[in-house]
Amino acid sequence: MTSKPKENIIISNIGGVTLKRVYNFNPGPATLPLDVLKEVQAEFLDFDETGMSIVETSHRAKSYDKIHNQAKADILELMNLGDDYEVLFIQGGASLQFAMIPMNFASKEKLGNYALSGIFSNNAYKEAKILGVGKVAASTESENFSRVPRQDELQIDSNAAYFHYCCNNTIYGTEYHYVPEVGEVPLISDMSSDMLSRPLDFKKFSLIYAGVQKNLGPAGVVIVVAKKSMIEKSLDTLPTMLRYDTFYKKNSLYNTPPTFSIYVVGKVAQWIKNNGGLKVMAQRNLKKAQIIYDIIDESDGFYKGHAQKDSRSLMNVTFRLPNDELEKKFIAEALENNISGVKGHRLVGGMRASIYNAMPLEGAEVLAEFMKKFQRKNKG
Ligand SMILES: *Cc1c(COP(=O)(O)O)cnc(C)c1O
Repeated sequence: MTSKPKENIIISNIGGVTLKRVYNFNPGPATLPLDVLKEVQAEFLDFDETGMSIVETSHRAKSYDKIHNQAKADILELMNLGDDYEVLFIQGGASLQFAMIPMNFASKEKLGNYALSGIFSNNAYKEAKILGVGKVAASTESENFSRVPRQDELQIDSNAAYFHYCCNNTIYGTEYHYVPEVGEVPLISDMSSDMLSRPLDFKKFSLIYAGVQKNLGPAGVVIVVAKKSMIEKSLDTLPTMLRYDTFYKKNSLYNTPPTFSIYVVGKVAQWIKNNGGLKVMAQRNLKKAQIIYDIIDESDGFYKGHAQKDSRSLMNVTFRLPNDELEKKFIAEALENNISGVKGHRLVGGMRASIYNAMPLEGAEVLAEFMKKFQRKNKG
């Protein structure tokens, strides 16, 4: 590798301890913008001149209120949504959303319709099935989830409670490059791994949710962006904490929210704004993905992508090597080159490079360069 210091590898001396950072390709929790981490560090001991850290501050304090509401406003602004939408902060991970959505909106008469394109979309459907209110609208399981369903494959009930799909399949490395047309049916999407990675016509959606630990912050909070008219449909026979309108009416402060996670998400939203918003994120993300997919495509079959080309994810690049032994070697040697977290999910095997917003272009270049070199040395 080159000897010049890299943007994302810093040597800092904190209290006499030297830290070295790597290019972190973990799927989630995942890499965050270095600028954000530094800011968090700098203001940790004395947050907003309160003489205490954010994690010691009351969720009812003015200093916290400011960042809570600013984060909400920035998310809506980035998504180009107006005040007919609301941002909610909910705990329990994206996995609790899998249950809350059918609980609040579906019934035996009006089923939740699901496109199955990977593990998480299947898990979402599973919860609706437990409640007896789910229907499969499409599935690509027979193709080992190597692509997402096409529009012409979606079989959506005209009276569906909603149509649910997972926009980016973190494990298989596939992503929808179209927004499904669903007519009058409310559109719901799990965007856990591509939220705020690119502009979309978000007005087409009734509800979007994302566990923030992939692309937007530390684990502990889910961002739900929903039409107020959808939130108002919350079922009032449900327990308080399982209803969307509880979070709406109380500004996500009915109980103690995960203040630290929300604080960091707010900083990441600011960082996205300061860096040109979703359009610039999308350009950068496309470029990073292209660099790695090009290596795969030009490798004469040494690297085999899991995703079919028209479903390729810009967030998670999945690929295999000729055999297990080479895959183990790849992971070990990658680490020697400051490339961390590229081992794939056990269901797909091989490699997965997660290249969320915070992965600098340089990280993708370093990985691509390493892949080229590794192939040259090992093609046999
Ligand atoms: C990680 C992930 C989930 C699960 O999120 P949890 O917060 O762990 O429940 C759901 N959907 C997608 C697309 C994911 O990437």
